[in-house]
Formats: sequence, C-alpha cells, structure tokens
Amino acid sequence: MKQTKHWRQNTDRIRSVLSRDRVGLITDIDGTLSSIAPTPEAAQVLPAGRDALAALVDRIFVAAISGRAAEDARRMVGVEGMTYVGNHGMERWTPAGLKLTPEVEDYVDAISDLLRYAEAALDLAGIIVEDKGSTGSIHYRQCDDPETARQAILDAVRTPADCAGLGITQGRRVIEVRPPLAYDKGTAVQSLIDDHRLTGVLYPGDDTTDVDAFRAIQAWRAETDGAGLALGAIGPETPDAVAKTADLHLAGVEDVAAFLRWLVGELDTA
Ligand SMILES: [Mg+2]
Repeated sequence: MKQTKHWRQNTDRIRSVLSRDRVGLITDIDGTLSSIAPTPEAAQVLPAGRDALAALVDRIFVAAISGRAAEDARRMVGVEGMTYVGNHGMERWTPAGLKLTPEVEDYVDAISDLLRYAEAALDLAGIIVEDKGSTGSIHYRQCDDPETARQAILDAVRTPADCAGLGITQGRRVIEVRPPLAYDKGTAVQSLIDDHRLTGVLYPGDDTTDVDAFRAIQAWRAETDGAGLALGAIGPETPDAVAKTADLHLAGVEDVAAFLRWLVGELDTA
C-alpha cells in the first residue's frame, strides 16, 4: 500500500468533501465493516464501526450497499435510520420500509410464478426454492447429485424464463432468476446521489463490485461540481483493481472503523 494514499495523510481532501452542504457516507458491508468469515451468516460488523455509524446517522446521510438482501444487510449492520441497499441495488430498506425499484416491481409476479412452476416440475429431493421478491434462488447444495440437479433445474426453467423475459445466473450451488436489468453498485450509488441530492460522497469498499461504485463516483464528480472520494479498504485478499482505482486507502476493517470515528469527530468540530 502506497503511504501517500492512506487517508490519514490526506485528511484535507476528506474535509473538503465534508464541507459540502449535503454529505453522504455510502459504504460496503462485507470485508469493509466486517472481516470476511467462512460463511456469510458468521460475518459480524465491528462494534466500533457500528457505534460510529449510529453517531453519523444523526449528522449526515448514511447508507450501506450490499449484494445481500436489503433486509439481511439491515440485520447485519443493525443501525436504525440508515438506508440499506440490497441485491445489487434492486431493493432498498429505508426508515420508511422496504422498497423495490419500480422496474424490478414489474418482474416480481413473473419470478414468483416461475419458482412455483419449477418447484412443481422438479421432482428432486433436497432442492430449496427461495422467493426473495426481486430475485429468486433455487439451491441444490443438498441434492445427492448436484451436477444432475443443476442440469435438471436449468432444463426446467430456461424456456419459461425466456418467455417471461427473466435472466438466469448461476452461483455456487445455486441458480438465480432475476430481472433482466443492469444493476451494480455503480448504478446504486448514482441513484442514492440523485434521490438524496448529495453534493459530497465518501464510499469505502473492498471488492471488485465496489470498483463499479468507485468509478461512478469519479465520473459523477468529473461531470458535476460534486465532491466524492472512493476509499479502498485494503486487506490481504483485496483485488488489485480496488487499490488501483481507489482515491485513498484504508488499512483494513479496523482502520475503516477508525476512519468512521474520525468522521464523527470532524463533523462535530466543523
Ligand atoms: Mg465487500
């Protein structure tokens, strides 16, 4: 990590973002607020980071963006008053409740119908069908022969998914049905900036998907008079693109928590 990019050596740049009239902190969760754990369920947000977020919520706009469902992100961070953007930007938990983005809402019924059809058509023990509203998952980890199960699921869902205009993606022992919409953390950040008319944005993140958010912030500040900084949380497994694209660096999750505490102090003395 180049010392010159460490946030403590660049506090003037951060202060200049904080001096804007509508400041937002938008943060990734896994690997940024929490250390990466063996399973997603085991990951925990550092208490120092959570306390700082709870203090920041009273001072600026605070949101978390995750590949997790919005409700799961909210459970994990557990700070009231924050906005939680889940499922790659397709859903939002705000203090007013859970909202799907309008384009996603058009596909909710089709996803639900397709999952019910698949459940009936597939006579396979061990399949778990999960209707997440904005997306659907068919898990086959528990099947005796996962490869046969994978093929059977794909055969069953492909044609009806095509007819309904839905996309199919494959993950680790899971097949996902999703709206054919291009959502990523970059589009999610841009829509938070627009909806909350932010003029200053700080975004810490640690992974390849966060690079989309970094680039969105950099494009936004180049095209508008917005002030934004992409902050790479650099750990031992951090992909090169994160360190390279980030404007400034944080030295892992403990340092992210220290950074958030510093923000609280800065906003109080400003
Ligand atoms: Mg992450």
